[in-house]
This record gives sequence, C-alpha cells and structure tokens, in this order.
Amino acid sequence: MNYINTKDTSEVVSFKEATIKGLGNNKGLFVPERIPQLPESFFQEIEQKSDLEIAMEVMLPFVEGSLSKDELQAILEQTISFTLPVKEIRENVSVLELFHGPTQAFKDIGAKFMAGCLSAFQQDKKVTVLVATSGDTGSAVANGFYEVDGVEVKVLFPKGKVSAYQEKQMTGLGKNITAIEVDGVFDDCQALVKQAFSDDELNKKLNLSSANSINVARFLPQMLYYFVAYKQVKSTLNGRPWWVSVPSGNFGNLTAGLIAQKMGLPVAKFIAANNANDTFYQYQQTGEYVPKVSVATYSNAMDVGAPSNFERVQWLFNNDLSELSKSLVSDSYSDEATLAKIKSEKELSDYLLDPHGAVGLMALEAKKPEQAYGTFLATAHPQKFESVVKKALPDFPIEKVDLSNCQKLEMKNDYAEFKRLLLS
Ligand SMILES: *Cc1c(COP(=O)(O)O)cnc(C)c1O
Repeated sequence: MNYINTKDTSEVVSFKEATIKGLGNNKGLFVPERIPQLPESFFQEIEQKSDLEIAMEVMLPFVEGSLSKDELQAILEQTISFTLPVKEIRENVSVLELFHGPTQAFKDIGAKFMAGCLSAFQQDKKVTVLVATSGDTGSAVANGFYEVDGVEVKVLFPKGKVSAYQEKQMTGLGKNITAIEVDGVFDDCQALVKQAFSDDELNKKLNLSSANSINVARFLPQMLYYFVAYKQVKSTLNGRPWWVSVPSGNFGNLTAGLIAQKMGLPVAKFIAANNANDTFYQYQQTGEYVPKVSVATYSNAMDVGAPSNFERVQWLFNNDLSELSKSLVSDSYSDEATLAKIKSEKELSDYLLDPHGAVGLMALEAKKPEQAYGTFLATAHPQKFESVVKKALPDFPIEKVDLSNCQKLEMKNDYAEFKRLLLS
C-alpha cells in the first residue's frame, strides 16, 4: 500500500516512510492511496473471530510492502493486551469502553502499535519522538514506547495542568522516557515542539519524529475499535441501523471509524461529539471551515480548535459537504451540560461517565433516531478525570496518587533551554 500526501500528491510513500516521516511535505498528511474492501464473509463470520484475527485482516493491506504478516502479527499481539467491551446501559444504547489499557484512555492502542512499527523499522540513527500533551497522549506514548530500543521519547506537559494520574503515567517510567514539565500552558509545549521540528540544526543532529494522530501508524489501528464493537452488537442490532458517537478532538479516532465504514463496516451514521471547541460542528452548519484558538473545557483531551485530521475527513468525501453529511453528523456541548449529564446518568443507570464519554452520550441521545441502535465511545476512565467527576458527584472518591518515585525535568517556556536539553 502506498500513501499520498494530501497537500502534494506527487509525494507517494510506503507505510514505513509515512510512519517514520510523520508529516508530509508542505505539512500535508499521508492518506492511503485506496481503501481496501472486506469481503461479505468477514462480516458474516465476525462473531467467531478473535480481536487479534480481526485486527490482522483489517490492518494487513495497509502495511503491505512494509511489514510481513509475521511482523504485523507480533506487533498486534503486543498491542491488543486488554479487552474492548461493549456494555448496554439501557434499551438501544450501549457504551464501548476503550479505557481498559495501561493508561486508561483509548490512545494506548495507537501508541503501542506505532512503537512496534518504529521498532521493526529500526534505523542506524536513534529516533527521538517529541510529544506535547495536555495529558492523555503523553501518558499513552510514554507507556507504549517504554524500553523500545532505538527510540528516545521527550514528553512536554504543562505545569499544574495535568491530573495526578496523568503525571504519574508520564513521570513514573524513566529509562528512554523523559518527562519535561514546562512552566506554561499546552499551547506553549506545542510551540516548543513545532519549533524543534523546523530547526535545521537540530534536524541535522537528531532523527525527530512525532507521535500524535497525524501519524498513520497512530490513527489507523484505531479502526479495530469499530470492528470489535460490531462483533459484540451484531446480534442485538438484528438488521437495525447502527449509530456510533465519537468524542472528538483532533478527529483521529473518528477518521479511523470512517475508513472502517468505507471498508464495509455497516455503521449507519457517525456522530462527531464536540465540547465548546466546535469548529467542525460550525463547519457542518455553515459550510465554512474557520479554525479557532482552543478554549479550555472539562473534557480537555478534546480542546482542539483546528482539528488536524480535518484534512483526512475532507479527502474521504472528496471535499463534498453533502456527501460527508450522509455519513456523519455533529453536535457540541458545554461544560455545564457535561457535569449535569455525569450526575443524571449515575442516577438513572448507575453508569459512571468521564467528561469525554458524557459528551459522546449526549450527542448520541440527541441525534440517534429512536428505533436505531446506538453505541458511544467511552474514551477515558472516570478516575483519570476525577476532579471533574467530583464536581458532578461530590461523593466520588479521590484516590491518593503517589508521585514520590517519579522523575521529571522542569523547564521554563524557553526554546533555547529546550534545544540545549535535546542536544545534551
Ligand atoms: C485524545 C482523546 C480524545 C480525542 O480523540 P481524537 O482522535 O483527537 O479526536 C477524546 N477523548 C479522550 C479521553 C482522549 O484522550
């Protein structure tokens, strides 16, 4: 399979090159040159297949030419080390829980898969992965890349802006993972990383790579979620339309779902569930795409004002809004509504939502036709966002997180200092 750069279609690369490079020329994103179709028998027999077998069939065409079948199998065995259960919370509404991995949010699968790929693609020169994070990406990448030979990871997180859980997951590992606490906000961390990527001197000395969802190896394996969910709901669906709601920030997870749908997965409609960062929702209402500066919300992993995978969504539907709207609707919710939903859902069904899942469920209930069957994605464990959950449910216990054996470097928001640190 080859990958094409959306901004420069003359740049055609293999899966291996796309993974190592991350971003294409002119900051374009890589997209697969075609979308393979799964045979009908795959869906007829899906209930008999293990998650690993499903992942093998889905991913093999996307890595062809770069990874052998055995290499893919070995990477996927490492990646799929936990369950992805669907639970019904009431009639016609279920939740796909994606938080049973090591860092309790859905990015564990993508991070681990990408780490496995980089390890298989070992080069002479060590790779330095830079990650700016508001919390979840950093913890998943730190965990996924821990002790991977030939890869050094530098995670930049904003001081005082991540939960104790997230901090422990980033600072508790050591070895090839360096956690850097920046005296600034998430945007400052992001700016430092971007400046490093465009620093010629640094790029001559270091082999820099990025591990957010612009990377094909990070977002593509997330297709698995939707196939594994279908396996579990198929008999309940019994031919009814299936609606799937995805709490979205950079739209990497949703893009994976849309590709799964194009491969033949019978999703009637996806719902892009947004918080106050509603750039995509506004685009769908008005036809005009106006990126904004992000605003801080309780569902902070979705605080993105210019979703980086918007370009891939556009490519999937040939820049045609009316085509896109046949597969995808969107909705947006405030922090007040999010807290109210966490509280009311606990009372109604005893199900404990995290703020991202709460946005997903609200959007599902607002958009799904009554007779259709709906599934929303719970993208993080409520414990990971305990201070928000506690605002809605004052009795929610806050567990004490022990940070005593953790290590971090502390840094001012200063590029010269960051560069010295990278070169030391
Ligand atoms: C990253 C993240 C999201 C947003 O996912 P995208 O792929 O960026 O749209 C939603 N919820 C949680 C908990 C996350 O960590």
